[in-house]
Amino acid sequence: MDCNIETPTACGERIMRWADDLAQFSEAPDMLTRTYLTSAHHGAAAQLAEWMCAAGMSVRRDMAGNVIGRYEGLIPDAPALLTGSHFDSVRNGGKYDGNLGILLPIACVQQWHKAGKRFPFAIEIIGFAEEEGVRFKATLLGSRAAAGTFDLAVLDNLDEAGHSMRDVMAASGFHAAGLGKAAYAPQAVLAFVEVHIEQGPVLLNQELPLGVVSAISGASRFTVEIEGLAGHAGTVPMEMRRDAAMAAAEIGLYIEQRCHGTRGLVGTVGQFNVPNGAANVVPGKAIFSIDIRAEQDQIRQAAVADVLARIEQIAQRRHVVVHTRKTHEASSVPCAPWLQQQLAGAIETSGIALKHLPSGAGHDAMAMAAITDVAMLFVRCGNGGISHHPDEIMTAADAALAAQVFSRFVENFKH
Ligand SMILES: [Zn+2]
Repeated sequence: MDCNIETPTACGERIMRWADDLAQFSEAPDMLTRTYLTSAHHGAAAQLAEWMCAAGMSVRRDMAGNVIGRYEGLIPDAPALLTGSHFDSVRNGGKYDGNLGILLPIACVQQWHKAGKRFPFAIEIIGFAEEEGVRFKATLLGSRAAAGTFDLAVLDNLDEAGHSMRDVMAASGFHAAGLGKAAYAPQAVLAFVEVHIEQGPVLLNQELPLGVVSAISGASRFTVEIEGLAGHAGTVPMEMRRDAAMAAAEIGLYIEQRCHGTRGLVGTVGQFNVPNGAANVVPGKAIFSIDIRAEQDQIRQAAVADVLARIEQIAQRRHVVVHTRKTHEASSVPCAPWLQQQLAGAIETSGIALKHLPSGAGHDAMAMAAITDVAMLFVRCGNGGISHHPDEIMTAADAALAAQVFSRFVENFKH
């Protein structure tokens, strides 16, 4: 064996070290917060570019601020197998969400570069500049630019300081007029394969290090406002009440019950407000959110229809008025069977039990599906599967296994 080539263990440890180093680029000293085009974000971009360069890639930035490393194939200008993930974060997030999917392929390319190995196709690693939507309340900015589906209307969105996205981009040297050029030509692309931590407990509970994503779940989101009648908690008899909060509570419990027990279906009431509520007042108003997701669109749509019907029934019986507003709707994005098969092959060849699972969270692969077939490799999280949180962890051993499987996948890649 070439003494320049790292052992899998050393490769896993290198990925973990890079994740630690990258986490230093943060807007706050005691936590990881890295939102679009802040100085912490620029620092992380420069660091990624440096690692990509050192791994033998040519590096460019597009007008969305994505950092793209290209490892040429045997023939110049060959179509590329794309991989990558995002390097922005939520507020007080974890080190591996997004970042792992950039750092891990850089480590793999570095090995191939040292070994002088090239493929009949190029490999491009995209560090997507923005996915989480924290600063400008618009998600997947980097991958939408790369896929040619960037919605120019969001350029007018303002951050908390009142700066528009357009101005913030221009101040960083990224001009909206050039966004169209960030889009890949479909014929220059073979596929997009994203490595990401699972951000959930499924692999951890089944004691599996890796999983092949079957689909990214579709989602429906609503804001529901209920108007009842406020009254004195001591004087209004129970049978005469039009309690908005209890109507909301009954709907919430129905959502939980309806989504329970169907594989891949989840329903959440994450916000639940009783505006101006007081201990001695019957609630006159309640506002809450609904988030329903499923791997299969029909399953999600059926659940949504049942929930909306039940809301009507509950409103009639309790004599309250309900306003339901849809705030988000996204179809499920299936992962391409041919890519899933090749990932599964790489996992099984590595002696790891195979597991397919849906992704309940959205990812850059969703946007990339507009121009090419996509797939995702999930890596186990520790700590009960917690993510978007500083307690998000994974192990160097799992990073090593994932790097091994990803390398094997690329080395045997057929399109
Ligand atoms: Zn992510």
